[in-house]
Amino acid sequence: VWEQCVKQLKGELTSAEFNTWILPLQAQIEGDRLRLFAPNNFVLDWTRQHYEPRLMELCRSLTDGQVARLSFEVGGIDAAERRGGEDVSLSLLEDADADLAERRASANLNADFTFDSFVEGKSNQLARAASMQIGQNPGTAYNPLFIYGGVGLGKTHLMHAVGNILLATNPTARVIYLHSERFVAEMIKALQHNRIDDFKRTYRSVNALLIDDVQFFAGKERSQEEFFHTFNALFESRQQIVLSSDRFPKEVVGLEERLRSRFGWGLTVAIEPPDLETSVAILHSKASLWGVDLPEDVAFFIGRRIRSNIRELEGALRRLIANSQFTGKPITMDLARHALKDMLAAQDKQVSIENIQKTAAEYYKLRVSDMLSAKRSRSIARPRQMAMALAKELTKHSLPEIGRAFGGRDHTTVLHATRTIKTLRESDASLEEDYKNLLRILTS
Ligand code: ADP
Ligand code: MG
Repeated sequence: VWEQCVKQLKGELTSAEFNTWILPLQAQIEGDRLRLFAPNNFVLDWTRQHYEPRLMELCRSLTDGQVARLSFEVGGIDAAERRGGEDVSLSLLEDADADLAERRASANLNADFTFDSFVEGKSNQLARAASMQIGQNPGTAYNPLFIYGGVGLGKTHLMHAVGNILLATNPTARVIYLHSERFVAEMIKALQHNRIDDFKRTYRSVNALLIDDVQFFAGKERSQEEFFHTFNALFESRQQIVLSSDRFPKEVVGLEERLRSRFGWGLTVAIEPPDLETSVAILHSKASLWGVDLPEDVAFFIGRRIRSNIRELEGALRRLIANSQFTGKPITMDLARHALKDMLAAQDKQVSIENIQKTAAEYYKLRVSDMLSAKRSRSIARPRQMAMALAKELTKHSLPEIGRAFGGRDHTTVLHATRTIKTLRESDASLEEDYKNLLRILTS
């Protein structure tokens, strides 16, 4: 079957695609399942993402439906058979694994987001330590734990890590991870089907409830009401609540005051954009996870160019590895420059608001979170105004958009900031110098 599958695909794909992704796979039929073995995680992820539906279709039609399932594994057939060698303790372990996998799935947890795969750095140290505490002492350390920071900095990863450790260390723990938008959608579904009591019971009976991106509760009053009661029920019975948001609890707009204040009852920790060393460490860790050698100079090259977002950092690495597998060339600086040319050019051209905030914060030796906070002392307010003025100058964002990106401020605040900076630049030489320096750093 596999041979026929391969023959068919050879006709459908370019030879480079075929040689890179399909040829290295090994296959074995087991009952109604075709097991595919990939040489490493990277090939596994890629083939699964890009070819799984087509492979499934081919297998079904080639076997008249006798092969109904596909599974992907890393390694070779030999290794799998050795694992299968009759060893009772091993099979007990596998049962436990399967059980854990099932509990993980029903908690909506991603098995890859663990503390082990989370690289620690100055920018995330506090958030990681607090999450770890929760993982070890749920319900008693801090409640709720509120993690906030910009996009792609690891909030979701940490929440899953908490959930995963709770499940792994306590075989009876009930955990649910949910994006706040899913919470809203589930609630609406429950209302439509007259199942709101089930809904309530489900969320109020967990040992840990992890709700991601709570800023999306904004303006959804019925959901906030429901969540408020869930929160109280869990809080009173000392079950753990973990929340995340892109900003400080008090600054989440469109939330009822009583929720906002509860969000700050426990411990609130920030995740900041990574420094260069942390970025490089993360790149190495992802590379080794995917079974790829990443030279030091290339890691620094990517880390230096992509600063504000770990998701983009990962995207760049993914693209580079794909390019290397595809062309058969090793990962070198030359390949990196070539493979990431478009991505870096796009990145360079568009100065993002985040980038401006980060650069200004570094320049004035502040934390980005201070810049987004409600604090009004001159030493923070002036840099904030500077960053707002630069955002107006260097990006295409509107005043309201800029205001929102600065901790949910009003557009008139942004307007006032641009005017103030304009006036001060004429009267205050050192401010004018700061402005020029920042402009140069951001656009060079
Ligand atoms: P957020 O929820 O803050 O937007 P995510 O948790 O989704 O960010 O993280 C984006 C990506 O970056 C994920 O793939 C995550 O695994 C990875 N990531 C973030 N922080 C780290 C870290 N410290 N170590 C390893 N990977 C990280
Ligand atoms: Mg997230």
